[in-house]
Amino acid sequence: MRPEFATSLARAAAGRELEREDIIALLGAAPGADADALFRQADDVRARMAGEEVHLRGIIEFSNYCRRRCYYCGLRADNAKLHRYRLMPEDIIAAARQGAELGYGTVVLQSGEDPWYTAPILAGVIREIKKLGVAVTLCVGERPREEYARWREAGADRYLLKHETANEELYARLHPGMSWQERLQCLIWLKELGYQVGSGNIIGLPGQTLADLADDLLLLRQLDVEMAGLGPFIPHPDTPLGGEPAGSAELTYRVVAVARLVIPYAHLPATTALGTLAANGRQLALTRGANVIMPNITPTEYRPDYQIYPNKICVNEGPEDCRHCLEGMVRSLGRRLGRGPGHTLKQFMAATI
Ligand code: SAH
Repeated sequence: MRPEFATSLARAAAGRELEREDIIALLGAAPGADADALFRQADDVRARMAGEEVHLRGIIEFSNYCRRRCYYCGLRADNAKLHRYRLMPEDIIAAARQGAELGYGTVVLQSGEDPWYTAPILAGVIREIKKLGVAVTLCVGERPREEYARWREAGADRYLLKHETANEELYARLHPGMSWQERLQCLIWLKELGYQVGSGNIIGLPGQTLADLADDLLLLRQLDVEMAGLGPFIPHPDTPLGGEPAGSAELTYRVVAVARLVIPYAHLPATTALGTLAANGRQLALTRGANVIMPNITPTEYRPDYQIYPNKICVNEGPEDCRHCLEGMVRSLGRRLGRGPGHTLKQFMAATI
């Protein structure tokens, strides 16, 4: 083992708070013995903090219209090639009902930043879905505080807003017309309003360094997030970054594993982007720190058009197929499907310390 890596891993094993330098050393774990030791440590912490349950969050991608122009994303407003769609409120509610019937304890409503869905329209959708007895996560981007407040009053439990990168300069380059400070402000509002907040970042963005990724994890710790979405960059041909190389699956596993050590109580999904990049990506992530999967419950006809990146997996499967496939995946790993909404793990942490 490399000495700096061994020292940092020992600090993690002793439950000490990891410093920036530790995090950089762990993220740089060499393939083979070092990376394997990191993955074992992460799996051990996952078992203690999150248990053997894998929570399934059914995601409905209800609109691919977007007013933003993020350089990596296929939904960007400038992508004229994309066929755009919007689900009507009753169709979103029907998809959520199907998710609830499949036993998913959480429904995630995700879209591009689409002002068609005014605060009252989405509040109505949330109220109806809450009657199904599921937790509701919103992932619809930056909005005024009053709108977040209104959706919280309507019953929304959680909000996912990835900070995308903690490197402000890189953020500015990739998000024309947007501000890193404003995104952070949104995250602070969401916390103040009592949402369980998820954030996260993309791994392998052009120009991103291990130190940047360490800063991502430190920011997630500072924000005290309940969940972190950590997925690899996948180039989309109809975006300005279309010619850039994809992020690495190996680096993504290491980021997920180190995240489990830095924010041990957080829910960490084995992301669809990772499953797209590597055939066994989600399974491996589940054994290296992750404890959540987000199956797609968007009506099948719309799925190919929610193209944040190309070749997304499971696009042609029906909702029941996904449920069975994932149950098999979870069982084959010796784990079990989560029951109930799978809320925050923080109370659990308070109980174990
Ligand atoms: N408009 C919403 C949802 C965005 S799509 C919002 O702003 O939160 C969900 C996530 O997809 C984004 O947060 C981003 O991290 C990820 N994403 C977009 N394009 C990607 C790409 N090409 N590769 C990997 N992840 C991407």
